[in-house]
Amino acid sequence: MKVPKLKKSNCVHCKKHTDHKVSTAKTGGKRGALKRGSIQRAKKRGLGVGCGNLGKYGSKGAQSSWKRYGVKTSKKEDLKLTCKECNKSKLARMPRSKKVTLE
Ligand SMILES: [Zn+2]
Repeated sequence: MKVPKLKKSNCVHCKKHTDHKVSTAKTGGKRGALKRGSIQRAKKRGLGVGCGNLGKYGSKGAQSSWKRYGVKTSKKEDLKLTCKECNKSKLARMPRSKKVTLE
């Protein structure tokens, strides 16, 4: 999908339509495999189903066997729109596409 580098969009801070510079939002540092949030999430998956976690939670986790990973070939990309007047930015989600190119 081709996206223009300059785009008119509403700025919440200026309260009007202004020119925005478009860039792809950088993804931050990668979280560890089992940080607090993911540990709680993995544990919750084992709860509420029968007795114990039915082997759904362990050092490896059984997610891969009952969740379809790697099926989709496209991604929903985030764009960063920076207002040219006040220099503040916001994020805009793009629809599913294989590749986003700025032009
Ligand atoms: Zn602005």
